[in-house]
Amino acid sequence: KAKPEENGTVKADGEAKTEEEDKEDKAAQSLLNKLIRNNLVNTNNQVEVLQRDPNSPLYSVKSFEELRLKPQLLQGVYAMGFNRPSKIQENALPMMLAEPPQNLIAQSQSGTGKTAAFVLAMLSRVDPANSWPQCLCVSPTYELALQTGKVIEQMGKFYPEVKLIYGIRGNKLERGMKIQEQIVIGTPGTVLDWCLKFKFIDPKKIKVFVLDEADVMIATQGHQDQSIRIQRTLPKNCQMLLFSATFEESVWNFAKRIVPEPNIIKLKREEETLDTIKQYYVNCNSKEEKFQALCNIYGAITIAQAMIFCHTRRTAGWLAGELSREGHQVALLSGEMVVEQRAAVIERFRDGKEKVLVTTNVCARGIDVEQVSVVINFDLPVDKDGNPDNETYLHRIGRTGRFGKRGLAINMVDSKGSMNILNRIQEHFKKKIEKLDTDDLDEIE
Ligand code: ADP
Repeated sequence: KAKPEENGTVKADGEAKTEEEDKEDKAAQSLLNKLIRNNLVNTNNQVEVLQRDPNSPLYSVKSFEELRLKPQLLQGVYAMGFNRPSKIQENALPMMLAEPPQNLIAQSQSGTGKTAAFVLAMLSRVDPANSWPQCLCVSPTYELALQTGKVIEQMGKFYPEVKLIYGIRGNKLERGMKIQEQIVIGTPGTVLDWCLKFKFIDPKKIKVFVLDEADVMIATQGHQDQSIRIQRTLPKNCQMLLFSATFEESVWNFAKRIVPEPNIIKLKREEETLDTIKQYYVNCNSKEEKFQALCNIYGAITIAQAMIFCHTRRTAGWLAGELSREGHQVALLSGEMVVEQRAAVIERFRDGKEKVLVTTNVCARGIDVEQVSVVINFDLPVDKDGNPDNETYLHRIGRTGRFGKRGLAINMVDSKGSMNILNRIQEHFKKKIEKLDTDDLDEIE
C-alpha cells in the first residue's frame, strides 16, 4: 500500500481499519507491552473495590505468606522475584483464593500484575491428582495465550505435577481423546470446539474460568459469541474471572454476561499531564528544513535520548537514514516489523544502545521509555480527517505526574496547515507552546 508523504488528509499507518485489523492492532499492542515489560508499573492511585456482598469483610494482604499458598507455589512466586503483592494483587488475590470461590471482574492497565494474579489462582485451585482439565483460560490470540502459558510454567516450576495444554489452532488432537492436563489455555474458537464439538474437555469439571484481555477480545464479534458459549457450558459453581486493561461501556456489558455476581476491582491509570513538560515549536518550510532544524538542536543541546515521531513509514525511514548519515546511532521502529522485532528494537533503545528512536505513531503507542528526556514531533499527530489528535499528543509527550521527570517536547511545523494544528493543540491543553529559534538556541534547557 503506497501512502502519500505529506501531512494532512492522508491516512497514517494503521488508520481506516477493518474490525479484524483493529483487533490485530490491539492484540499486537498488548503483546508488545508484555514482551517489553519486565516489572510492575508504578502507580499511586487507589484501588477501588466493589464487593458482591458488602457485609463480608474486605481482605487485603501485604505479603504472599498471608495467602497460605501451597509451598511449591510460594517458592515459584519468590523464584520469579516477586517480594510482595502488587497493588491490585493485594485485594484481588484474597478474593480469588477465598472459599467458597468468588467471581471477579478486574480492570487495571497493563503491567499491574493481573496475569500473575490469575495464574496463581488457577495453580492454587488445581488438584494435580485429577487428570482432567480444571482451569480454562481464554486469550484473544495465539501469541497472547503463549505468553500467559509461559507465566504458568514459570510460576508452576516447583509444581511439576500440574500440566498445561494450549488450545490453539494448529494443535490438533486425535478424535475421541480426553485431555489429561489440568490447565487449558487457548483462544475462544479452539477452546469452544474442544469443549463442544470434539469433547476433549468436559466443561462440567471446570473449576476456574479466566477470560483475559476482555477489551481486546470484544473487538471481534466472533470471540465475544464464542466466549459466551463457552461460559454457558460451565457449571454454576465454576469461578469466573475476567480481566481488562481498559473499561469502556462495551467491555462492561460483555463482562456482566461472562461473570455473574461479580466482585469488581478497578485501578485507575495514572493521569498523564503536560505540566512538567517544556513545549516548543520550530517553524520550517519543508521536511529538509525540519531535518536541518533538528541537526541544529542536536548541535546546541545535549540530548541523552530522544524519540522522534513521524506521520508515515516513509518519512520515518528517510529521517532515520539522514540521521545515521549525520553520525547518530538511530533505531527505527517500522510498521513492517513483526511484534517481536519491535520489542527487540525498543529493548535495545531502553538499554541505551541507540540514542534516537524514530517511529511512526502506531508502533510506539503505549510504550513508555522513562529515560527519554526529549520528544520530537517531526510531524504533528493528526487523525484520519486531518484534525489534531490531542490524545496522541498527550500520550507522546505527557508524563505521569508524580513519577515524571521534567521533559522537553519540540514540535516541527512546516506549513500553514500544521501551524493551525499546533494552535489547536495549544488551545486544547491551554498550555503555551513557545516558538524556538533554531539559529539561537540559548533559551532552551
Ligand atoms: P498485567 O497482566 O496486568 O499486564 P503482569 O502480571 O504481566 O501484569 O505483571 C507485569 C510485570 O510485573 C511482569 O513482568 C510480572 O512478572 C511482574 N510482576 C507481577 N506481579 C509482581 C509482583 N507482585 N512483584 C513483582 N513483580 C511482579
